[in-house]
Parts: sequence; C-alpha cells; structure tokens
Amino acid sequence: MSAKKNIAILGAGPASSTLAIRLCNEGCKVVIFATPEQAPILVGESLVPMIIPMLQDLGVEQEVAEYSVYKPGACFTYNADEVFEFRFSETPSDLPSYAYNVPRDKFNATLLNAALRAGAKLVNRKVILSQVADSEDLKLDDDSLQAAIGYWDKSEPDLIVDAAGRANLIGRLLAVPMQKGPRQDVALFAHVDQTELVDSGYVHNDRIDHGWCWRIPLQGKVSLGFVVPESYAQEQGSTPEEQYDNLLKNDSVLQALAPNAQRVTPALRFNNYQSISERLCAGNWVMLGDSGGFVDPVFSSGMLIAMDSANKLADTILQDKPLSDYEVAIKLHLNSWFEIVDYFYNGRLMSSIKVGMMMPDNAINRFIYRWVSSHVSRIFSGAAASNPFSLKLLRFLVKYGLKDRNPDDYKIN
Ligand SMILES: Cc1cc2nc3c(=O)[nH]c(=O)nc-3n(C[C@H](O)[C@H](O)[C@H](O)COP(=O)(O)OP(=O)(O)OC[C@H]3O[C@@H](n4cnc5c(N)ncnc54)[C@H](O)[C@@H]3O)c2cc1C
Repeated sequence: MSAKKNIAILGAGPASSTLAIRLCNEGCKVVIFATPEQAPILVGESLVPMIIPMLQDLGVEQEVAEYSVYKPGACFTYNADEVFEFRFSETPSDLPSYAYNVPRDKFNATLLNAALRAGAKLVNRKVILSQVADSEDLKLDDDSLQAAIGYWDKSEPDLIVDAAGRANLIGRLLAVPMQKGPRQDVALFAHVDQTELVDSGYVHNDRIDHGWCWRIPLQGKVSLGFVVPESYAQEQGSTPEEQYDNLLKNDSVLQALAPNAQRVTPALRFNNYQSISERLCAGNWVMLGDSGGFVDPVFSSGMLIAMDSANKLADTILQDKPLSDYEVAIKLHLNSWFEIVDYFYNGRLMSSIKVGMMMPDNAINRFIYRWVSSHVSRIFSGAAASNPFSLKLLRFLVKYGLKDRNPDDYKIN
C-alpha cells in the first residue's frame, strides 16, 4: 500500500475521476471536492484514439460509445478545396483505429459515476485552500476537512490534488509562474444545428480568414468553435454571442462550410491558454490535468494529456515514487505538444505532408512515404508526443523536408 493513502482531489473532471478510480481500486481513500455549477456546454469533445485503451481499462467504453459519435479520423481544410484527410485505420497497427466525439457533460458523469462506484466519496463544496506557515504544504478549510472525517483514516489528507482545470487553484494561490506559448488567441465555442461535413464522424479543422475553426459532429448537432487572434475577436462585438455570430456570418470560409448553421446554445469564450505551470508539485500538493497546463485545442490533445497525467500520477503514488518524477514526465509531454502545435501554426507540418504526397510515384518513394506517414500520423492519434523517435523524425522533416515549398502556404494567420 502506498504511503499516500488519504487523497483529496479538487475538481470532478476527467483527470480527477481517472485518478480516483485508479487509486480507489488499490485501496486508497479518495475524496473528490466538486462545485455543482457547470457551464451550459463544455469543451473537450473530440477524443483521440490513444484515449481508447484508457476508457477500456476504466471499464467505461461501452457506456461512452452509446451517447457519442464514432470518430474514424480527422481532416484539415485549407484554401476551401484542399482537404487533408487522416483515417485512424491507416495508422500503425499498434494504435487504436478509432476514437469518439463526446458530449462532455455525459462523459464527465460517466467517469465520475465510475469513480464513485470504485469507492470515492463526493463532497459538493468549494474548498478554501491556504498555505501552512513556513512550509510548502497546503491545507483545506475546516468545513471541508469536517466533511471528509470518518472517511479518511486520519484528520488531514496525505496529498492534495488540484484537478480543478483552468481554475488553477494552487497555481493562483501560490502565484506559480506560467511558461507561455507564442499564440495569443481566443476560442469562441457553441453548438450549431448543422454544417457541411467531409465525413460524419471526423473532427474537422479548417483554416478560416483569421485563425482556424473546429467542427466536431455530436449526436444531432455539431460543435463549432473558432480560434482567432484576440484583436480580431474584439472587432466582431463585445459579448461572446456577438463575436461568435458575426464570425459565423462574415468569415468567407464559414459561409461555404456552414452556410445554414444556426447556433443552438450560448457561446463561450476562452483565452489565456498555451501555458504550462513552472511547478507541478511541492510539499503535500500536486497539479493534475489542465490545472498544470493546457497547450492548444488543435489536435485534440487536452483530454489525452489530462487522463494520461492521471494515470502517471496514480502510478507515482501507488509505487511511492517522488512526485518530481511525475512532474518531469508531464512537462516533457506538454512541451512535446507545444512543439507539434507550433508546426501546425507556422505551416511547416502540412507543407512537409504535402511534399510527401507530391513525391513521384515509384516503389522506393512509396516505401519511404508509408514509413514516414506511419510516424507523422501518430500526431492525429495522440501518440507522437510520447514517442521520441516520431518526434525527432517530425523535427527533421519540418526543418529539412520542405524542398522549395513555402510553409506560409499553410500558415495560420
Ligand atoms: C477552446 C478549447 C477547446 C478544447 N477542445 C478540446 C478537444 O476537442 N479535445 C480535447 O481532448 N481537449 C480539448 N480541450 C481541452 C480539454 O477541455 C481539457 O484539457 C480537459 O477538459 C482537461 O480535463 P481536466 O479534468 O484537467 O479539467 P476540466 O475538464 O476543466 O475539469 C475540472 C473540473 O473542476 C471544476 N472546478 C473548477 N473550480 C473548482 C473549484 N474551486 N472547486 C472544485 N471544482 C472546481 C470544474 O467545474 C470542472 O468540472 C479544449 C480546451 C479549450 C480551451
């Protein structure tokens, strides 16, 4: 049994529930402190194939499949008529060949219910954290501790896990500096009734006049979100709804892709992402999932990183390893995604893919193309960032493999 047996997790998102299930299954006492209020719709709907084995291990895939849309691949549209399609069934056979697009409220509920079935205790209250004087440790307010008494086998938790997502509770309390990425975009997000689709299950990423948009098919509707420069969003209006509706109406690409789309939910606005906390642990606390960092919506890596971090943290706790081992692994994973995302925005990724597609058709080139694609396609499955060889090959390709192609052709403004 781990030395850290009594665990407090703040937040009840996917990272929290995944960790709780893993720890409860090994006899730990986990209390999840959650806030009942929830936004009307939640981002994080497009999952990547690398999450599928995690859902299977947690015993929830069947339930998730029932309310989700089967996702066989991804596509990227440039210049209106230039579409790059990636089917997961064409990726190497060690990777799962599908994923799902999920309604996040139901997905969160599935995972949380599984955590409760595994034995976690849910306390609906907003914890107030404070720092213990002259120490790196944190403590929970008395009422929160009171709510957990009798469940933990001592009066204080051994470990406090901040899994409250972008609220970044511990980072804000301790003013932990953030490593920032180069983009200052905002994302505007809502559900619409319909859009054109290349494939009814694909996640669609489309370059638009300024920035890019996603289209994620859900049951009976489509999640449509814009990622645009902050200044451009402000020109569209003052409220998220005004900005969203004006972008939908005025963008020339969207006029073709979603000419009849009607917004069916409120619009939400996100900024301040592309950031990683410079510290992920100290004393008796650790950050998990988005609270420790979030890279970018493109490539749908957020949920993978959140659930993968939960598994890595569970292993660290259960094997009594130092939390610093976990911190190193998570920072590496986040920074690898930072690098891959950069190649999307600067146009080098698609340019190198295009060069591969244009190679003269002969046996040697076909062999090289298949081998290179098997590594590049790991980006869309979610596997590239944790495969050092694929990442090195990608780095080589975007630097030396562009021939005379100008990466600006595929750059995101
Ligand atoms: C614009 C945008 C689009 C995205 N699209 C995708 C995508 O398509 N695919 C993908 O994989 N990822 C996507 N992501 C990322 C994904 O949403 C997150 O990475 C993922 O939700 C992280 O999970 P989490 O469990 O760490 O945090 P969350 O899912 O945010 O869960 C945290 C929970 O903590 C709760 N909470 C907050 N404050 C408190 C408090 N004080 N006390 C208790 N609880 C609290 C919150 O209500 C929430 O339920 C997107 C992100 C953004 C910003």
